[in-house]
Amino acid sequence: MDDIWLYCPGCKRKSRIKVYENTTLIHFPLYCHWCRKEFIISFVDKKMLMEKEKEISG
Ligand SMILES: [Zn+2]
Repeated sequence: MDDIWLYCPGCKRKSRIKVYENTTLIHFPLYCHWCRKEFIISFVDKKMLMEKEKEISG
């Protein structure tokens, strides 16, 4: 089972979120510590889909 590191849909850098190839995420809040944004993503069949970008205020 391979580890897959999710990439930030904004800055394309590696996030701290790891999934497996058979992991399924739906409406998952992916936080990027590089651009300090949260992205609502889904991860299905080894493909990540970005649904929404959310600015973190404060
Ligand atoms: Zn980012």
